[in-house]
Amino acid sequence: FQNADVTYPGGFRALHNVSLTIEPGELVVIVGLSGAGKSTLLRAINGFVPITAGSVRVNGTEVRGARESTLRELRSGVGMIFQTFNLVHRTSVLNNVLMGRLAKVPRWRSMLGIWPAADKEIAIQSLERVEIVEKTYIRASNLSGGQQQRVGIARALMQNPEMILADEPVASLDPPTSHAVMSDLKRISREDGITTLVNLHFIDMARDYADRIIGM
Ligand code: ADP
Repeated sequence: FQNADVTYPGGFRALHNVSLTIEPGELVVIVGLSGAGKSTLLRAINGFVPITAGSVRVNGTEVRGARESTLRELRSGVGMIFQTFNLVHRTSVLNNVLMGRLAKVPRWRSMLGIWPAADKEIAIQSLERVEIVEKTYIRASNLSGGQQQRVGIARALMQNPEMILADEPVASLDPPTSHAVMSDLKRISREDGITTLVNLHFIDMARDYADRIIGM
């Protein structure tokens, strides 16, 4: 970020003159009160909000004013993790994880649920990494919040991401489950060298897991 602004269409300037650099492989936690702009900061990285001044570059690619095709390419390498997990409840855990491949698989295959065997293999490995492989064939609606978030992480891993953006990933979870999910994120970031940005409400949790904390 170099002197970046994000001004929403209604005229509200959510980021003003933000400059910061995130190094490859870093796990950075962004803390701040509700409304501080944490989510806007994350979403600026893959061009989901209007960057109205300055510059945001990801691996040398300028996000501000980027074409749709450039943004698609950028987004295919960025795994997103959400507070509300964003799983499709009426289908299996396995299918939810495979949806992480959507950017890389022809649409008809995903619509028919015909996934390459190699992808299924990777999906199961991803579920093993977040210790939930025994739920592979269960409907997503039958999982606890913590289990759903682990599936969310496995789905992000399916993208073979260079970066993971996690927007309040533990805000809906109880403290022990929050720690388990943060530990998973940290371990995976380390093992795979994935640059990871996490928005959190709580400074103590940030201290436990972050390489660096950014306050907003
Ligand atoms: P945080 O993630 O820290 O809670 P946000 O980035 O969601 O903060 O929001 C920052 C500010 O931008 C808030 O005042 C919010 O109301 C405003 N905002 C967020 N999204 C939009 C939008 N789509 N249109 C207009 N204003 C928005």
